[in-house]
Parts: sequence; C-alpha cells; structure tokens
Amino acid sequence: MKSDPGSQARSGTLYIVATPIGNLEDLSPRASSTLASVAVIAAEDTRHSGRLLQHLGISKPMLALHDHNERDRASRLLDRLESGEDVALVSDAGTPLISDPGYVLVRQARERGIRVSPVPGPCALVTALSAAGLPTDRFLFAGFLPSKRGARRSELEALAAETATLVFYESPHRILETVAEIRDVMGGEREIVLGRELTKTFETFYAGPAGEVCQVIEADPNGARGEFVVMIHGVRRESDMDDTGAVDTDKLLQLLAAELPVKKVAKIAAELTGRSKNELYQRVLALKPE
Ligand code: SAM
Repeated sequence: MKSDPGSQARSGTLYIVATPIGNLEDLSPRASSTLASVAVIAAEDTRHSGRLLQHLGISKPMLALHDHNERDRASRLLDRLESGEDVALVSDAGTPLISDPGYVLVRQARERGIRVSPVPGPCALVTALSAAGLPTDRFLFAGFLPSKRGARRSELEALAAETATLVFYESPHRILETVAEIRDVMGGEREIVLGRELTKTFETFYAGPAGEVCQVIEADPNGARGEFVVMIHGVRRESDMDDTGAVDTDKLLQLLAAELPVKKVAKIAAELTGRSKNELYQRVLALKPE
C-alpha cells in the first residue's frame, strides 16, 4: 500500500474534475469552485476546455495533456504537485480517464503518494445506462470497439455470451455498421438501446430488438449523427427467465447439446419453450464447457 501522509501534507492535490457531456448546466458547483481554486488545469484540448472556463468566468494557466504527450506532461505536473501546487485534470467532456487521457498521471501521482481527489459529475456511460431501461446490476463497459471490421467482429463474438449488460462508446461514422454487426453476431432479436446526443437538444433513445433498431436508424436521416452510447442486454440467465414450470431449460439445452449442433439445439428448444431462438443459442454457448 502506498500512502504517505507526510508527503501528502506537503504536496498539492490532483483533482479529477468531470465536465458536461453536452448541457453546460450539468457542471457541478464543486467542479466550478475546484477549477477556480487550482494553480493549473491540465486539459485534453486547451482550446476546447478554455471555452468552458470562459463560460464560467475562470481564467487559469492551462497545460495540454493528451494521449500522445501524457508521459512527458505527467512528470511536469507531478513536479508541480510535489512542490505544493493543486492541479485539476479535465477532458473534453465527461469524466477524465473514462475512454479519455489521465491514467498515467493518476497512476504515477498515487505511486508518489500525492493525494488524488475525484470531483464527480457527468459520464456518458452512466448517463445512458441510467435511462436505458436495461439491467444495471451488472454491466461491462468495453470502451470503443476496434475500428477494423475483423477485430470488431471478433470482439463482439467474444462478448456474445456475456450475461451482464454490455456498454460501448461509438462514433457517428461507424454506428450503422456496428449496430448491423451486433444484429449479425448476437441475433436480430437481442435487445439493444442506443443513447444519442445525451443531455443535448437532440437527445434520442433508440430501443428494441437489434434488427429493428438497425432499420430505424438506417431510415432516420439523423440516425448516424452525433455521439452514441451503445447498450446491449446480456444473455439471460436461467434465473432471469420466466419460469414455465414445465421444463428446466438449461438441462434441456445441455441434453440436446450433447447430441446436436448448437443451431439445431436452439431451434428445437425455442419450439419447446416458446423462448427466443437467439437467446437460447447464446445460452447454449454459455453453458458449453470450454
Ligand atoms: N470521458 C467521457 C465520459 O465520461 O463519458 C467519454 C469520452 S469518449 C472520448 C467520447 C465518447 O463518449 C463519444 O464518442 C460517445 O460515444 C460518448 N459520449 C460522450 N458524450 C456523449 C453524449 N452527449 N451522448 C452520447 N454519447 C456521448
């Protein structure tokens, strides 16, 4: 454990400050007073964050800290923190480090015994999940999917049997392709929710089976505009499924899977139980021994 109260007392504090993901009113009063109180603000893009500071009437020295210069900038910021200055880290939008720079800085600050304090606020993934109507007791946030088609498909295949709700970030120019791929890999009946332009004027949720959502966004002229969070219902566990009382579905799937290919198992089990073929297909995969 690395905790050195002596050095923490001498060092400044590194504040990790969340900023709005669209609506400026979402900036907390504590975020604002923290930004106004520190000696320097490290920002992913100083011009972008400069506009937010201008809106808040705050004038502060800023330092750019992005993926390409984080190691070098981190050591300069750590020196300033060790000399007793307070530093705030912000990203372009939302919570720093969540698919944004800052990991190296926070890691090294902790290693040096510098106090790191979060100033929580907006985060697109939590914002989206909170209103999607998908299970939130367990979720897996997987950041951005790979941009190359083959790698993206492999990742979706690797996650297809996951029972937790899946959450991704996606850029507008890949959203149609990604939703089509989710439909192809996880089945057109898999329930998905897209949160678009959250907290902004054109905030929209698209929810339903992947096949339908795909058609809706393809037909919507704004369907591929703006920022997106993609959420996918996990594969239903036996305990989550409605109990028909008649058949132990897992047992049925296991017995059939010992004799038949997965596709046939799903087809027969769907007829017997009235449940979705795709859901059962994923369940057979999840039940299969490695
Ligand atoms: N650190 C940020 C956070 O806390 O959410 C995320 C930064 S990541 C580089 C940017 C991605 O977050 C976007 O491509 C989009 O997928 C998602 N995002 C950010 N703002 C959003 C919004 N207002 N509505 C929907 N998605 C958003």
